[in-house]
Amino acid sequence: MAVLVLSACILYILKSRTEEPAPTSRIVTLPKIEIEEDIRGNIVIIIDDFGYRDDNVSEGFLSLDADLTFAVIPGHQNSKVFAAKADQNGYEVIVHMPMESTNETRGEKEYMLTTSMTSNEIESRVEEVISEFPEAVGMNNHQGSKATSDKRIMNILSNVLKRHGKYFIDSRTTSETVAEITMRFRGVHTIRRHVFLDNENKQNKIREQLYKLVDKAESIGLAVGIGHARINTLEVLKQEIPKLKEYGFKFQFASFAVK
Ligand SMILES: [Zn+2]
Repeated sequence: MAVLVLSACILYILKSRTEEPAPTSRIVTLPKIEIEEDIRGNIVIIIDDFGYRDDNVSEGFLSLDADLTFAVIPGHQNSKVFAAKADQNGYEVIVHMPMESTNETRGEKEYMLTTSMTSNEIESRVEEVISEFPEAVGMNNHQGSKATSDKRIMNILSNVLKRHGKYFIDSRTTSETVAEITMRFRGVHTIRRHVFLDNENKQNKIREQLYKLVDKAESIGLAVGIGHARINTLEVLKQEIPKLKEYGFKFQFASFAVK
C-alpha cells in the first residue's frame, strides 16, 4: 500500500513538472526579441501628384535623404519617366489613381474611376494603369470623395489590387470613405492617411502639420502623412528630415506601414 501511494506521488510530481514548468526558467530561456530602442517613431511620407512636372522641384524630391513614397498620376507627360527615375533612385513608387470627387473634378478624365462606369470598365481601367507602371507596388487615391465612398468601385478595385499583390493607402479625402475597410475585408494590405501636410501651401503651416505627424508617430509608433510635389513642401522636408533623423525618428516606405 505504501509503495502504491509513493509511486502515485512520484507520478504526480513528474506530471506536474512536465505540464507546468516553472515560469521563471521559461522567461530566461526565451529568445531575445530585437527592439530598436533608439527609434522614437516610424514616419511614412507619401508625396502625391507627380507626373505634372519635370523641374527643380521634382528633382529636389529625388535628392531627399529618406525612404519616401512617391505617388504618380497616370497619363501625364512626365508620369512614366518620373516613376522610373524615382524607382532607380531608391524611392518607393505607387500609382496616384484619379477618382471621382463630389466636387467638380478637373483633368485625368480618361483615367478616372467614376460611379457612372460599368464594373468591367472600372476593372480594365485599373488593369491598364497597373500595367503602365511596373515600378508601382501600391496605389492611393487622387481626390475620390465620391468613388472611395462607393462600395461597388472599392470592391472591384480590391479584386484587381489583390490579383496583382498591390497595397492601397486610403488618402481619406472624405469621412464617408469605405476604401480602407473594404481593402482590409478583401485581404488587400492597407492603411489610412493620418495627416495632410500641405492643405495650406505655406512653409510655417506645413512645418506645423509635419510635427503633428511626428507627434503621432511618437505616440502610436507609426504615422502616415501625405504631401504634394510642390516647392514649399520640398523646402520644409529638406530642412526637417535631417533633424528628425537625428532626434531618432525613422522614415519608412508606405509598404512598411500597410497590413
Ligand atoms: Zn492628388
